[in-house]
Amino acid sequence: MRTKYLTIILIILITLIFSLNTMALAAESLRIDFIDVGQADSILIQLPNKEKMLIDGGNNEDGDLIVKYLTKLKINKLDYLVATHPHEDHIGGLDNIINNFKVNKVYMPKISHTSQTFRDLLIAIKEKGLKISIAKAGVSLIDKGDVQVRIIGPVKEDYKELNNYSAIVKINFNDTSFLFTGDAEAEVEEELVTSKIDLAADLLKIGHHGSSSSTTLAFLEKVNPQYGVISVGKDNKYGHPTKFTLEKLNRTGVEVYRTDQLGTIIAISDGQKITFNHKAPFISTTKISNNKLPLTISNLNLKDEIVLITNNGSEDINISNWKLLSLRGKQEFIFPQGTIIKAGESLKVVSGRNASKGKGQIIWTKSYIWNNNGDAAQLYDLKGNLIAEYY
Ligand SMILES: [Zn+2]
Repeated sequence: MRTKYLTIILIILITLIFSLNTMALAAESLRIDFIDVGQADSILIQLPNKEKMLIDGGNNEDGDLIVKYLTKLKINKLDYLVATHPHEDHIGGLDNIINNFKVNKVYMPKISHTSQTFRDLLIAIKEKGLKISIAKAGVSLIDKGDVQVRIIGPVKEDYKELNNYSAIVKINFNDTSFLFTGDAEAEVEEELVTSKIDLAADLLKIGHHGSSSSTTLAFLEKVNPQYGVISVGKDNKYGHPTKFTLEKLNRTGVEVYRTDQLGTIIAISDGQKITFNHKAPFISTTKISNNKLPLTISNLNLKDEIVLITNNGSEDINISNWKLLSLRGKQEFIFPQGTIIKAGESLKVVSGRNASKGKGQIIWTKSYIWNNNGDAAQLYDLKGNLIAEYY
């Protein structure tokens, strides 16, 4: 009989310990602060294992702001400091941060720069007695239980564009995932798309402040994020984020959060879902002005170089001398005199080496027009009104 009681007590104890343990697990969270540093990047990540990571440190003048921000959060040590690439808007404040906090590991891509800002960073690292770990694809920072932090870019050793050296960080926490691409551009995105690296992420830090040089459609489709965060300054001189990028995000159903509109953006994951400190912003769909015509660009096949324009109405539409525009290469096709799309029918505009004439088919050129990494088409009428577009 005594053993029976003991067994019951033991079972109760084990159940208690087990439930306490799962409660502790449920309390674990991952918090990401996209600190508002204007036209720059600075991202603080508080990992479920309580380690802290900082990706980039804003411009030179942002150093104090970031130091204050971290201090307010009672952070005195950074376990990982990532300087994505040597441009000032990413490393500017890092010397200040290194001088003010304990830093465990510094990750940087293997590329140098002649700027004073870059020199300041190297001096701060040296004076603190820190070593630089090379940030490149394949480096694993954490791989414990339900948390993985990996560097998946840069993929190659050499790039022409400094932005493409950007350290790219992928974080997985239980069922949620995050991708931070620095300022990496289309070239790197394509390398990642064609690699075997798992790119899927619930949240994507939109590359290069929403510039058109990044966020190709192919990359966006592979990452397939639910949320996109753009770190960007109000009325910046670069025109970031571009309409082209915003449209792509809009069309692929990405909920976009922008620091120029919302200030600092905080995302918290409990391992299952992600919540934000701001309400989901209103997602607008583009309105095409003065479009009373039942004309649409119903398909744009980038690989086969085919644009399909459809007349959904009950009357023929004359599109002589209208203009078809490729948005990436900014190339124009003027429809020849007498081009008519009959009611309910479609017209194919083909290009590329294999382009040929046929029924309901017209040749733009034998050259290649469309960028396979993502492109968009717009159709303008004689007066220059945007009639239809396809992203
Ligand atoms: Zn930048």
